[in-house]
Amino acid sequence: MGDFSQQVPMPDCPFCGVAYGAAPRVIVDEGSYGEMVHVTCLACGRALAMRVERSPQAVRSVGLLTDCNAEDYRHFWQAERVSLDDVLRVHEGLSR
Ligand SMILES: [Zn+2]
Repeated sequence: MGDFSQQVPMPDCPFCGVAYGAAPRVIVDEGSYGEMVHVTCLACGRALAMRVERSPQAVRSVGLLTDCNAEDYRHFWQAERVSLDDVLRVHEGLSR
């Protein structure tokens, strides 16, 4: 079956359009839903957090834009279990 992490569909960078390829990715949270993966684009340096949902039928990624670094994100997720809505609300607050 191989390395499961390589099966996660990685989108192109939404900021500059370059494929992520070998860009460093960090799993910041894991749960029954799947995992949160944080990836930093090698071309433009912008960070993207993705929620990766795993099921027996498919693996799909849901992009969540963020400028947090992986360490911030890990702290955030460990501090409190929050819903996706909360994440979006916090992100909106941070970007003001
Ligand atoms: Zn980029």
